[in-house]
Amino acid sequence: MKKPNKFPEQKQSLPGEEAMMTPQPEVINANYKGSEKLKGKIALITGGDSGIGRSIAVHFAREGAAVAILYLNEKTDAENTKKLIEKENQKCILIEGDLKDEKFCQSSVQKVIKELGGLNIVVNNAGLQFSENKVENITKEHLQETFETNIYPFFYIVKEALPHLKKDDTIINTTSVTAYRGSEHLLDYSSTKGAIVTFTRSLATMLAKKGIRVNAVAPGPIWTPLIVATFDKVSDFGQDTPMGRAGQPSEVGPAYVFLASQDSSYITGQIIHINGGEIVGS
Ligand code: NAD
Ligand code: MG
Repeated sequence: MKKPNKFPEQKQSLPGEEAMMTPQPEVINANYKGSEKLKGKIALITGGDSGIGRSIAVHFAREGAAVAILYLNEKTDAENTKKLIEKENQKCILIEGDLKDEKFCQSSVQKVIKELGGLNIVVNNAGLQFSENKVENITKEHLQETFETNIYPFFYIVKEALPHLKKDDTIINTTSVTAYRGSEHLLDYSSTKGAIVTFTRSLATMLAKKGIRVNAVAPGPIWTPLIVATFDKVSDFGQDTPMGRAGQPSEVGPAYVFLASQDSSYITGQIIHINGGEIVGS
């Protein structure tokens, strides 16, 4: 049982570096045993360098998948994730660049196909947020940055990946609890997360007959670089959940394994809520 947290105050700027965080987020539970649930699969994970994405990457590798990590510019974090994947005896390629650029998304998918030999699992996970309490203060610049980062690339990546995906392949999207209950500090961000919920449901319907499943995960407060890069105060982060603490990336990664594997073969268009007990709509 994890104890309630009290984090030391710390401040970073976007995109944030996991290597600089105190305490270090837990990536994978030391007792997590792989059982070849993703043996021979090839996964692309956006924002896979750190936080939730790193945890997904390491869990996938422990389950037997090769992993491509797309990240903005956090070289140290990306290299550290690569080392963790190689420790699991799996291949990892790192692709640095800005997902807002459609050409970068297209060339990244092509690079994965060429260098890893195919693509079976697409995880749209990268995102950012700007905390702002007043709607009048949301600048056009931040509004565009938020939408162009958090939802447009889902279309770019999926469009390019789809011709390569086959029956039983999967797409998994990272949304947020804020899509369901709203957020007084994150109006624009929570709107993009609502878009991701609907994107997940619509795409799932569109691809169901092809046997390609599309699901999402809606995390609550998880201890990651995004948090220290975008909130002024972090000491009480997550304490307002029913469990009274923030979650660790290690508590989120296993849900992506479930959604990527045949264990979830009759599930599509659904959202898994990992939020310390907050009851939200489906
Ligand atoms: P994180 O900072 O570790 O991961 C976000 C990643 O997105 C970064 O590593 C960065 O490389 C990537 N990224 C951002 N902008 C990019 C761009 N323009 N081009 C390429 N890559 C870009 O933080 P995290 O919390 O693990 O975030 C992962 C996802 O989880 C995000 O979508 C976030 O909204 C979501 N989420 C997080 C929480 C939380 O409490 N941490 C809660 C709900 C949802
Ligand atoms: Mg990062």
